[in-house]
Amino acid sequence: MKIAVLGAGIAGITAAYELNRDGHEVTVIERESEPASFTSYANAGLFAPAHAYAWSSPAAPKILLKSLWRNDQALRFKPSADPAFWRWMWLFWRQCTAERAAINTRRKARLCNYSQSVFHETLARAPVRYDGNTGGLLYFYRNPAAFEAAAAKSRILQEEGCEIRTLDRDGAAQADPALAPVKDRIAGALYAPNDESGDCRLFARNMAGWLKEQGVSFRFGTTVSALRTDGDRVSAVQTDKGEIAADGAVLCLGVYTPQLARQIGLNLPVYPVKGYSITAPVSGRNNPPSIGGVDEENLVAYAPYGDRVRATATAEFSGFDRSHKPSDFAHMLKIMRELFPSGADWGACEYWAGLRPMTPEGTPILGPTHLRNLWLNTGLGHMGWTMSHATARITADLIAGRRPQIPLEGLTAAA
Ligand SMILES: Cc1cc2nc3c(=O)[nH]c(=O)nc-3n(C[C@H](O)[C@H](O)[C@H](O)COP(=O)(O)OP(=O)(O)OC[C@H]3O[C@@H](n4cnc5c(N)ncnc54)[C@H](O)[C@@H]3O)c2cc1C
Repeated sequence: MKIAVLGAGIAGITAAYELNRDGHEVTVIERESEPASFTSYANAGLFAPAHAYAWSSPAAPKILLKSLWRNDQALRFKPSADPAFWRWMWLFWRQCTAERAAINTRRKARLCNYSQSVFHETLARAPVRYDGNTGGLLYFYRNPAAFEAAAAKSRILQEEGCEIRTLDRDGAAQADPALAPVKDRIAGALYAPNDESGDCRLFARNMAGWLKEQGVSFRFGTTVSALRTDGDRVSAVQTDKGEIAADGAVLCLGVYTPQLARQIGLNLPVYPVKGYSITAPVSGRNNPPSIGGVDEENLVAYAPYGDRVRATATAEFSGFDRSHKPSDFAHMLKIMRELFPSGADWGACEYWAGLRPMTPEGTPILGPTHLRNLWLNTGLGHMGWTMSHATARITADLIAGRRPQIPLEGLTAAA
């Protein structure tokens, strides 16, 4: 089939890979000039099944309310007049029970673990460079009570197959010797030896290059404006550069998916949640982290990639605005300087802000729509790098009429 993949973020690129592998004639349509130029550009790069907790939880509403009057660096919440925002918040609030949090966490963990197996299968067939690090990830705590609570909470992920070891501060410093000088600030850590990290943008761009060699077409600088339908089918994708005929289409437009979906009567609860990142160069003089991790109480995630270190932080509800100012990075920069004072050249950071395509559940929206040849691969939220390999494989399976390897309950628009 001639399939149009709309969007060349990590969701679109991995979908293109799977569809090409199945023998389809694939065209990827993207408004930017290169793949992974939007949300997939500078995320933390943690490939983290052992961190697949749902954001919605019994504690979440109180945390959100508190952020209204506290100048919180981790969570910022500005109420907006946008009806889509209130609808999303209402749906999120309904997911904030202990029962829903457990269901959503288990679904995410299953998807993440499956994604990791697909990812390594992909790398064996298409060995693209992505500055990966398979040494595990370290989730560390400064407060003993918080550490104890986190160790208890991690049981749910262990039950879903994630290996998680409890380490004291010496163990944490052994897992990453770059933390040894500050180990006294660490109460304990959860170490996930099978979690990993890698540069999502580098992977997407190198994969796009590999796919071009396999015959996939890319239409960059091309904005999708509508879908032409013929009865219960999509017949073409309308763009600012003319129509592109297709036998089928996959929507991978991240935070912009609802805009296009609305035109065909689909109301998808995907809303932007902004985050910030810094990327600092590493030279021979530096002592960067050897593996990625999260400073849990400060909610700063970081990972080393070859000659650079990246750190990310903040979940901010402020619509589609991607602007940033120096103060947005002050907290994460302070934490990174404290943890890894000579870890990188912190004075030479690249600053970035991106929009996570979040669903209230934290699980993506996949699968068929009311149009027989239109599929969804969207809402990958705060774990799109980790989940995209699974969501792409599931998309290809559904298009081919194969039964996906994991249950899709709660992961489709129909659910
Ligand atoms: C600060 C931060 C840290 C993160 N850290 C992690 C992490 O450590 N691990 C992890 O797994 N995930 C992480 N994520 C999440 C991850 O980055 C996202 O889930 C993922 O990038 C989403 O990919 P996507 O392809 O769905 O969306 P995008 O990357 O946004 O791709 C959508 C594409 O569609 C294009 N597009 C939109 N509208 C149109 C149109 N009309 N016509 C043509 N093209 C269009 C856009 O230009 C874009 O390229 C993080 C995100 C942020 C913001």
